[in-house]
Amino acid sequence: TNKDIATPKRTQEILKKYKFSVKKSLGQNFLIDPNVLSNIVRAAGLTEDSGVIEIGPGIGALTEQSARSAERVLAFEIDQRLLPILKDTLSPYPHVEIVHKDVLKANLLQEVQRYFKPNQDIAVVANLPYYVTTPILMKLLEEKLPIRVIVVMLQKEVAERIAASPGSKIYGSLSIAAQYYAKAETVFTVPKTVFVPQPNVDSAILRLTRREKPPVDVIDEDFFFEFVQSSFVQRRKTVLNNLSVFFEEKLDKSDVATILEENGVDPKRRAESISMEEFAFLSNEFFHQVK
Ligand code: SAM
Repeated sequence: TNKDIATPKRTQEILKKYKFSVKKSLGQNFLIDPNVLSNIVRAAGLTEDSGVIEIGPGIGALTEQSARSAERVLAFEIDQRLLPILKDTLSPYPHVEIVHKDVLKANLLQEVQRYFKPNQDIAVVANLPYYVTTPILMKLLEEKLPIRVIVVMLQKEVAERIAASPGSKIYGSLSIAAQYYAKAETVFTVPKTVFVPQPNVDSAILRLTRREKPPVDVIDEDFFFEFVQSSFVQRRKTVLNNLSVFFEEKLDKSDVATILEENGVDPKRRAESISMEEFAFLSNEFFHQVK
């Protein structure tokens, strides 16, 4: 078997051999703990028939672990300087393809259809670049790709916000946006010491298991997400105050209050106490009033 890329010693050797200097602006923090890596891969529940999508393979530490468990791996890397390194470190794994692209600009559905087998089980397994965590996750969820599960390393604080429930101080529009598409759970947390260089924040593994269909019925998804976001604009304010700003041109504040009351929601409540079901119901009612 091959030596793990992710040991501290081998990582140092690779970085030195290629005189590679990490770019902080690209969120380059490389994992150097094979145990953490195998736990990430295990959380995805791969079989030997699974396909894996990775975002940001770096020098290939996690890619290698996925490649050992999956049928094929497709990895998007933005930094051109890493391509020759990956060609070298991943040479024992011909069933890995590296795409030199900014994942946010990639046509993911097209890439998936090109690379994976029809109806192949697909998981995203990645240690995300932290400066673009949220846009990447929202792209993966919103584009309704045929992905069963997303297992990613990200900032602990963001992972907790995504998985938060109503009533918690960190529950917000991001929790609802993600949980509309997927079941969200933090699987485990990871200390800074398992990276080189060490990031400034603690990290966690988040698992998003895609739902067959959303848990609530909304008439218009765009309106629903805007409605939710507007309700959280000023977290300390009541839902009435936030929504009357949102509907400024279309409804009087007293109308907003009446609609909330008629639908069993006290206008003095804060958005952080309102469940996704309540938001869905309310947004449908308001949609009828203003559209
Ligand atoms: N997977 C490696 C590991 O676990 O050691 C590296 C993870 S590192 C946190 C993030 C990686 O994402 C870096 O290799 C970085 O160059 C890459 N990256 C940053 N922005 C990206 C983007 N927009 N699209 C694709 N890759 C990106």
